[in-house]
Amino acid sequence: MRYEAPKTTKEAATFLKKEKGAAFILAGGTDLLVKMKLGLSEPDLVVDIKKIPAMNAISHSATGSKIGGAVSGAELGEHKGLCKTWPGVVEATNLIGSDQIQSRATMVGNLCNASPAADSVPAMIAAGAKAIVVGSTKRRTVPIEKIVTGPGQTSLADDEVIEAITLPKRGKKAGDAYLRFIPRTEMDIAVVSAGVNLTLERGVVKTARICLGAVAPTAILVPAAAKAIIGTKLDDEALEKLAAACSAACNPIDDKRGTIEYRVRVAGVLAKRAAKIAFQRAGGV
Ligand SMILES: Cc1cc2nc3c(=O)[nH]c(=O)nc-3n(C[C@H](O)[C@H](O)[C@H](O)COP(=O)(O)OP(=O)(O)OC[C@H]3O[C@@H](n4cnc5c(N)ncnc54)[C@H](O)[C@@H]3O)c2cc1C
Repeated sequence: MRYEAPKTTKEAATFLKKEKGAAFILAGGTDLLVKMKLGLSEPDLVVDIKKIPAMNAISHSATGSKIGGAVSGAELGEHKGLCKTWPGVVEATNLIGSDQIQSRATMVGNLCNASPAADSVPAMIAAGAKAIVVGSTKRRTVPIEKIVTGPGQTSLADDEVIEAITLPKRGKKAGDAYLRFIPRTEMDIAVVSAGVNLTLERGVVKTARICLGAVAPTAILVPAAAKAIIGTKLDDEALEKLAAACSAACNPIDDKRGTIEYRVRVAGVLAKRAAKIAFQRAGGV
């Protein structure tokens, strides 16, 4: 197995392009190295992105914030600006694993591992986040909901690397939240999860995005749930409609961690609770 640690994202993409065998990007390694140790992944080439400056940066501009692909969950949780503007995205990422895992794991690795239960993904989708994708010959910007196509599958081409995640600019009357249900208090993967992002105008919900995790092969955006609360002050009737829309959108598996019936019901409950938190964070009363 060859190991490369390029200094630019384009160089990383070019290494992927030239490799004839199995090539993998290495970010925090908390998924990749576990798979390698279990013999589930046998790379001929590992391309470590942690030496690439753009991958390690968190920056802000007139259009929003940019989080590099190698920024760890711990670094995100220590960033005061992001904790204030996107608490839901940060708390979702900070739910991943233990302190040890947090010091390595990245949002982009969480996304590209493509687990239906990945914690940061519903929060990023609800936030309207986008991925800056760099290939050996071109760059593109892709909404997060278009990256994962199924369990363990992404829409990235063989030579493509995600350089960063962008989050849109935030007004004052805006809030987001992420909740997951796990059978233990921590160190478990979501049985159901929900991310909610909304903005208010004169106390009324103006825009909303609601995304569920672990209830379908990929995280799912639920426009009908957003529609149920837009134009309301998040009264009980609106919340019930939101919950019903979320439950209706679920297509979960049935396993020992949760039955279909359970997951469908809990999706509505969690989305309601996350919406209430996002509403309060946006200054709603
Ligand atoms: C003990 C433990 C607990 C965990 N708990 C949770 C949990 O609670 N919730 C949860 O969601 N996950 C959990 N995980 C899974 C894992 O930690 C996360 O998915 C993590 O975010 C992966 O990030 P990483 O940087 O370590 O990815 P890596 O392992 O480096 O990469 C993961 C995959 O993404 C690809 N990749 C990485 N970066 C890029 C990039 N920039 N461009 C293109 N492809 C890329 C890699 O090639 C690989 O296929 C846990 C794992 C462990 C070992």
